[in-house]
Amino acid sequence: MTVRTRFAPSPTGFIHLGNIRSALYPWAFARSQGGAFILRIEDTDQERSSQEAVDVILQGMSWLGLDHDEGPYYQMQRMDRYREVLARMKDEGLVYPCYMSVAELDALRERQMANKEKPRYDGTWRPEPGKQLPPLPAGVQPVLRFRNPQGGLVAWDDKVKGRIEISNDELDDLVIARPDGTPTYNFCVVVDDIDMRITHVIRGDDHVNNTPRQINIFRALGQEPPVYAHLPTVLNERGEKMSKRNGAKAVTQFRDEGFLAEAVVNYLARLGWSHGDDEIFTREQFLQWFDLDHLGRSAAQFDEAKLRWVNAQH
Ligand code: GLU
Repeated sequence: MTVRTRFAPSPTGFIHLGNIRSALYPWAFARSQGGAFILRIEDTDQERSSQEAVDVILQGMSWLGLDHDEGPYYQMQRMDRYREVLARMKDEGLVYPCYMSVAELDALRERQMANKEKPRYDGTWRPEPGKQLPPLPAGVQPVLRFRNPQGGLVAWDDKVKGRIEISNDELDDLVIARPDGTPTYNFCVVVDDIDMRITHVIRGDDHVNNTPRQINIFRALGQEPPVYAHLPTVLNERGEKMSKRNGAKAVTQFRDEGFLAEAVVNYLARLGWSHGDDEIFTREQFLQWFDLDHLGRSAAQFDEAKLRWVNAQH
């Protein structure tokens, strides 16, 4: 099997070194396995996406030598493909229209919270044999919901987190198309990962909650899901999530300040992966040694002083 990995950033803001580390590992895994590395820009949030952020991603990757074999693919340019898959799913009864209004959903959520239940969609519009659906409300454009399997577990062996098992009954029927027909995030990711024949998804652990939903969509589409490795977050020196507001620098700023690309690769490589006690190594050594089994399990902490030290060793 040829390894195929991807980096799939959302160009919705500020791209710091923590973000670019999510490109480094899939890149290194593809390179070390003689596989392919694919770049996909997840730009469906049009209000928050910007060309400036895409440029920082492309420039940062090119500065650090994280070359891609395919792409960049832009999700906004793949809308016809998502619509085609949605149409197929409709034909196969894998999705259904749901006419519940936002006000009804809010009321349902409030009732559930008052009963100390977890808020979730209650399946009102999910067709079942012999079930009477409510009368169609006039003038309401429905969302499309995915028929999540009922009963049983969704499980995967995460390369970082170990085995994760989620009961299907915890997952409600995900909205996969909005009233205007545009597909939603989790659905686009699965269609892309299938079409791009991704074998290993290496991404931030803020996506762990999406994974069981995505796995169910893979299976509904007749595909086996890829291997997953969810990377713990990179925190700043004060243990906070890195962001522009709390002083993180854009990846390109390190280039502009004269940091060496090789040193930054070395530093980021060690921020969440280890090879014995080795601190300073070359790109070639990194690619020779890199594996998914030595990815760190706890949050990594960015430390600019340490980066300066690594930089001085190169
Ligand atoms: N676009 C997502 C992000 O930037 C990543 C999605 C993924 O890797 O599956 O957080």
